[in-house]
Amino acid sequence: MHNKLSSITIVGGGSAGWMTASYLNKVFGDQMKISLVESPNISTVGVGEATFSTIKLFFDFLELDEADWMPECGGSYKLAIKFVNWNAEGRTFYHPFQRHEMVDGFSLGEWWQKHKDELDAYDFSCFTTSAICEQKRSPRYLDGRVYDNKVQEYFKKEKAFSKNVLADLKIQYPYAYHFNAALLAAFLRKLAIRNGVKHVPDDVTAIHQAEDGSISHVTTKEHGDIYSDLFIDCTGFRGMIINKVLNEPFIPFAESLLCDTALAMQVPKDIGKEGMNPYTSSTALSSGWVWNIPLYGRDGTGYVFSKSFITPEDAEKEFRKHVGPASDNCNVSLINMRIGRNRNAWVKNCVAIGLANAFVEPLESTGIFFIQQGIEELVANFPDKSFNPELVKRYNTTIGDCVDGVKDFLTLHYCASSRYDTPFWKATKHDLKLSEDLQMRMKEWKQRMPNSRNINPKYHGFESYSYAVMLQGLGYLPERSLPVLDHMDSTRALNKFREIRERSEYLCRTLPSVYEYLTFVRERVAMMEEVEEA
Ligand code: FAD
Repeated sequence: MHNKLSSITIVGGGSAGWMTASYLNKVFGDQMKISLVESPNISTVGVGEATFSTIKLFFDFLELDEADWMPECGGSYKLAIKFVNWNAEGRTFYHPFQRHEMVDGFSLGEWWQKHKDELDAYDFSCFTTSAICEQKRSPRYLDGRVYDNKVQEYFKKEKAFSKNVLADLKIQYPYAYHFNAALLAAFLRKLAIRNGVKHVPDDVTAIHQAEDGSISHVTTKEHGDIYSDLFIDCTGFRGMIINKVLNEPFIPFAESLLCDTALAMQVPKDIGKEGMNPYTSSTALSSGWVWNIPLYGRDGTGYVFSKSFITPEDAEKEFRKHVGPASDNCNVSLINMRIGRNRNAWVKNCVAIGLANAFVEPLESTGIFFIQQGIEELVANFPDKSFNPELVKRYNTTIGDCVDGVKDFLTLHYCASSRYDTPFWKATKHDLKLSEDLQMRMKEWKQRMPNSRNINPKYHGFESYSYAVMLQGLGYLPERSLPVLDHMDSTRALNKFREIRERSEYLCRTLPSVYEYLTFVRERVAMMEEVEEA
């Protein structure tokens, strides 16, 4: 009983710090004293605006409805990522949050491979989401119903609100969110402080170790020393505790992911006139790619590139040309990215979460996903004062496997694409170091599409449909369809393709636009606030 931890100090107040504080506060309530020290002098990264569909679990656990936080954080919906110009043919394709349907034991993807000459493009034939994205539709009707029948019940309040680890999640939620990361951190800060988290707006100036090497306390400039049982390092790329004090080695991924720098910009947008896209887009340029994230009122955009292939000055010129006149009065900020992960995320009594632990370029929006996984696994493996090495080991293995799996998946985006037109794109074919595991799987995927048995089985957030969508879109196709399908009747599969086409048309006809839906919710929330105030 006396061995229980009773205090946690989080250093860092970016998305990682405040997501961790609000989540742990909800788990432990007043049994745990939680303090968060946040420097008023060192800014947060301030980007990180597109998420993974699993983020729903995080908001559900905090009992936050979309209407509670989305209007305050510029929130919008993300149903997919649209990839533009990632292959030599300049093709565009969607990577949706939607699994394949199965027909007679085979995924619709395999059936598409057999009948592709008679069908539309892969992403439109196999998924309803692509059409919804193209038509800028909302994933919800004005009465709140979610368009995807299979998961509608999980959006009901009584079905939500369960603490879970991501790896145990059986449901594919049909959408994620875009939000203004700074506003979300501010929203969570307010929530956490209201619920009892102690906010210390100050600089940590020294970190002290006990005899056994664990962290005993931190010293702040104006608030003295803070002692704790457990410390969470959320200090961003500097990894102030985990790397600088505990000397945990950082494993760079430069051999497999070449991009190391980003230019970020916020572009105002007249969404009433232009509408809003319910997806993130990723457009390949000469030496990397540009993200575009539509928020309510502005777009967040940025060029992720490799300094070995283009200077930041030339990258800015190329980026501004890509954005067009809308970029004329917008500032860009340059961000040096530390790509890779710590050998161990948890060392002694310190756990690193967020950029302090790991980061891969934001090509599949995995930064906040890593944070969520880091928090949930910490709760699942929560220690007492003995810091049982088996719990620590399990945590480190799970976190490391997840980051490595994502690294391989992102590497695939480059090495499977058919672009060779610039030194950067050539290097992605000749210079990347692929893990043995990925090399072996790529060989198999030339013969048959990815499925649940031939992708990396360790949890890393991506299922086989994501691999299939990316390979199809990038032009890395199996040489022929599965021979067994030649012995089978295709009628049911062809009917399924027809059903998907008809359902897509129906959804596009009946769903409101994203702009309409979000505006409707914001007006309703504003009206309710007025009534409450009156
Ligand atoms: P930071 O935001 O850097 O915060 C660090 C905190 O530590 C700050 O509060 C700072 O004040 C504090 N601190 C530092 N030193 C001290 C000290 N001595 N004393 C006290 N406090 C201190 N993720 C996604 O999920 N989707 C995306 O689309 C996405 N896009 C990205 C694009 C780019 C270019 C980059 C770089 C990242 C992106 N990410 C994305 C990742 C995402 O931004 C981060 O995962 C997220 O913002 C968490 O950052 P953080 O809190 O770990 O670090």
